[in-house]
Amino acid sequence: MIDLRSDTVTKPTESMRKAAYVAEVGDDVYGEDPTVNRLEEKAAELLGKEKALFVTSGTQGNQIAALTHCRPGDEVILEASSHIYMYEVGGFSALANVQTRTVQGVRGAMDPVEVKNTIRTENIHYPTTSLICMENTHNLAGGAILPLSNMQTIYQVAKDNNLQVHLDGARLFNASVGSGIPLEEYAKNADSVQFCLSKGLGAPVGSIIAGTEDFINRARKWRKMLGGGLRQVGIIAAPGLVALEENIDRLAEDHLHAKVLADGLANMSGITVENKVETNIIIVNVKETGLTPETFVEALKSKGVLAGVFGLETVRFVTHYDVSREEIEKTLVAVQAII
Ligand SMILES: *Cc1c(COP(=O)(O)O)cnc(C)c1O
Repeated sequence: MIDLRSDTVTKPTESMRKAAYVAEVGDDVYGEDPTVNRLEEKAAELLGKEKALFVTSGTQGNQIAALTHCRPGDEVILEASSHIYMYEVGGFSALANVQTRTVQGVRGAMDPVEVKNTIRTENIHYPTTSLICMENTHNLAGGAILPLSNMQTIYQVAKDNNLQVHLDGARLFNASVGSGIPLEEYAKNADSVQFCLSKGLGAPVGSIIAGTEDFINRARKWRKMLGGGLRQVGIIAAPGLVALEENIDRLAEDHLHAKVLADGLANMSGITVENKVETNIIIVNVKETGLTPETFVEALKSKGVLAGVFGLETVRFVTHYDVSREEIEKTLVAVQAII
């Protein structure tokens, strides 16, 4: 099977499995796992932040950020189709007890003026706005890279109003490799950053959150409360370190494969590529083929290719290191055949 449903399906590489086997470990709740400590140091350094924390998933990282930055009853400004708002089971309200307020973005980017106008003023009736979240790359916008200038302006708006900013950078490395802008430049425009080791970077498990030392000290307690204080977790942090050592630059290959796939799909009758393909995600509208996304995906599966139903008319393909150039060509042949 050629699995293009998501970049989360990547299996750990040989070197990751070996690193897990030989990893030096200790009890991480006591801060004594040297492998986790190395991973956290390396991640903080890459992002230009004081400290980082290994968490079980991107979702847990985002939830911990809200718990650490906000107080119950606060309001958080989010992009209307952000992962946190759409796909985290309502965790911001259920766990952090915050109210969410959305701003509709363009290709994932919120208008800074609208963000500014959405921040609550002082009024006895109002909740307190305490946090703004951004997402880069933006998943539902098809792996769109947020312009750095957009992030800078929103960060400035936040600081002018004493707010914190969290960056959901599940695919921040794709943004950096795609744009050529260093991770640090993006991370500068957020007080906390979350990124996933288990997507395009290919590690089996885990995410990182990073920020100031004070933020991470407080975040560590929330992680413990959520049941994310793990023991000899160097076993899974070791593949994460390998991901950061070996798999960053090669994301460019996934982006190239996505372009090849998108160009090929765009030439097929009945198929429209809906997004500007900047990184590793392609969203295609299949309505004109006469197939529903479900039947399209089912038919494609019978040809040995897995894609994901994304919307009422759309299907998503995500490239990653377990899909080769040759398999991209095979995918195009399979799509042509089912049409
Ligand atoms: C995947 C993803 C997450 C959540 O990560 P999990 O590890 O699956 O919990 C958060 N934000 C964005 C933008 C994502 O794409």
